[in-house]
Amino acid sequence: MNVEARQLELHLRHTFRISRWGFDVARTLLVTLEHAGLTGFGEAAPPRFFGEDLEATRRALEGLGGRLEGDPAALDAVLDALPPQVAALHGATAALDIALHDLAGQLAGQPLWAWLGLDPSAAPATSFTIAIAPVEQMVAHVREAERYPLLKIKVGTGRDVPIIEAIRSVTDKPLRVDANAAWSPQQAIAHLRAIQPYGIEFVEQPIPPGDPEAMRRVREAVDVPIIADESVATADDIPPLADAVDGVNIKLMKCGGIREARKMIDLARSLGLKVMLGCHIESSVAITAAAHLAPLADYADLDGNVLVVDDPFEGATLDDGARLCLPRRPGLGVRPRQA
Ligand code: MG
Repeated sequence: MNVEARQLELHLRHTFRISRWGFDVARTLLVTLEHAGLTGFGEAAPPRFFGEDLEATRRALEGLGGRLEGDPAALDAVLDALPPQVAALHGATAALDIALHDLAGQLAGQPLWAWLGLDPSAAPATSFTIAIAPVEQMVAHVREAERYPLLKIKVGTGRDVPIIEAIRSVTDKPLRVDANAAWSPQQAIAHLRAIQPYGIEFVEQPIPPGDPEAMRRVREAVDVPIIADESVATADDIPPLADAVDGVNIKLMKCGGIREARKMIDLARSLGLKVMLGCHIESSVAITAAAHLAPLADYADLDGNVLVVDDPFEGATLDDGARLCLPRRPGLGVRPRQA
């Protein structure tokens, strides 16, 4: 298979600010695999929190010398044979894994969800993210997000209680909050107790990763379910958290793609954990790849493509209730958007 990688620039409608950092442009790598006259699309949006970046990802993919050996219909064998400098980077691995799944589905003549044996009507609605901004802007963005029935509010600001209070005064939609590891355990307990009367569906990553015991203490002290995000990259990270959280946020870019994500979903289920599917700021290529797994998820947060104004691809879409609608074309079912 011929491999190519080229950079995509995705411009955000509003500055994407979370507790750690903010940006207006997201850069990802679009990966194409050519095989038997077919093109498989993949995308890498490297997980910065885990120390990966675009340059290292580009170098690792260029190190393949434009070739990937093997048959995409036997994608396990191809992924198992990736050179260590690629396998070490989960964003790069995810891009190849997604493109291989695209080709495998196309070769089988089936949309990826069918190839995976899934029921597309079981895909949940996606939440829509409200990034950190001055309170009045966050409220304006909530009003702007009228068509989205589920909101995810970024917190970890030092003014989290007034933010939730202000947002709750203008909407009765379910609210999820994401602290992105910003709180200490004491702050997490205090803030969650203060906001739980406003009706919070769950909180993502209230405290920094690495201390399951502290996570367990927070969980016992509050009435808001906890979903681990930064604490969980791959399947190995799940068992230590089994009785410390209520669920895990699985992202293709953290774990290395669809193959590992399926393993994580099965493991999380076997431990009685809820499954959330999340994303980075990505085009419809990577978002659609995650969307094909959405029938297996309790919660979807696959809005990276709708937060940008110039997504160059189309794939999974949203119905009037923001439920993910999976493409019926073979493979991933994405294609470049007509200008
Ligand atoms: Mg998160």
